[in-house]
Amino acid sequence: MARKNPPLKELSAKQRRRRVEELIEPFRVTNGKRFRLRDYDPGDTRGVSSKEEAQQYLKRGVELLAGMQDKLYAQDQWGVLLIFQAMDAAGKDGAIKHVMSGVNPQGCQVFAFKAPTSEELDHDFLWRTSKSLPERGRIGIFNRSYYEEVLVVRVHPQILEKQKLPRSLVTKRVWDERYEDIRAFERYFARQGFVILKFFLNVSKKAQKQRFLERLERPEKNWKFALADAQERKHWKAYMRAYEDAVRATAAKDAPWYVVPADKKWFARLVVAGAIYDALAKLRLRYPEVGPEKRKELAAARAQLMSEGKSRPTRRQSRDRVKERPKPREATATSDSPAALVPPAPLPVAGAPAPEA
Ligand code: ATP
Ligand code: MG
Repeated sequence: MARKNPPLKELSAKQRRRRVEELIEPFRVTNGKRFRLRDYDPGDTRGVSSKEEAQQYLKRGVELLAGMQDKLYAQDQWGVLLIFQAMDAAGKDGAIKHVMSGVNPQGCQVFAFKAPTSEELDHDFLWRTSKSLPERGRIGIFNRSYYEEVLVVRVHPQILEKQKLPRSLVTKRVWDERYEDIRAFERYFARQGFVILKFFLNVSKKAQKQRFLERLERPEKNWKFALADAQERKHWKAYMRAYEDAVRATAAKDAPWYVVPADKKWFARLVVAGAIYDALAKLRLRYPEVGPEKRKELAAARAQLMSEGKSRPTRRQSRDRVKERPKPREATATSDSPAALVPPAPLPVAGAPAPEA
């Protein structure tokens, strides 16, 4: 039992990938046809027995992610879009914060989507998120997304009424049409070289209540509490149905959903990190190769930097220098001076022409 889960450091890269694959696979949905939310237990922590164990894995995972993201950025071809959806207090913010903690902020962009502004309502529903899509080489994170259009809007049809769609276009097919449009967009985006991962942090109604109570009881958490959030609990079933339908209609190989057990935050973070690691590993990212032309350029730049401040010796100076030196090697640089990085130049021979600088 003690060796069931040896530290990640002791595993080869292949074993590590296998281990991560085993961890995340049960929660990945790439084909929604048979998806039923009730098959997914929000309290699941399979294979990981304690918070401490999870934290150890997460720490290593975050280091690995940082290295992969550096290559993603250097390569500048693939891009990544991570979508986080959840009921309130499921731990979206914490998951984003912890999983991306080691990543260079320059390679990462986070956007949160709240109730749309009037400017946003003047556009089609994909407009505001399209403006915030990640660039190649970067990881874009959506804290909520266009999925709200088939979640909160579906649970509260009065929101749909306030959207300025022409009446004749709002039929009972409206949700199916939105799923279809979302799928079409995601397929297009994936074909453009963007990896899309969608996370539904699946918290139970009971755990949410516990977290709301904590927000009420602990002064440093009071600011997070909103009465409206607690009132949304009345619509829990409708939300779960909307999530189930959304996952069913939009899960795909090129845009999988991860239905992440979220009652234990430490496990949710591990699954999220694992899914990102798995997706990046599949890209087989490498630093861009330097070709012969570029190598020449680098060598020239190096030579130029090394010769800074040195003037070309005259023929006479060269001759005198040879005479002054009792032992030729004393004139070479010490091992910790910058000049030690270049091989010593051949010493000028008396009477011979001065070497080229
Ligand atoms: P937290 O509560 O942890 O700060 P949050 O993501 O819940 O994070 P809030 O400001 O509480 O942020 O809420 C954003 C609200 O905006 C959510 O209730 C969400 O359902 C709502 N919302 C997001 N997109 C839309 C949309 N397209 N139409 C209507 N409401 C939306
Ligand atoms: Mg909220």
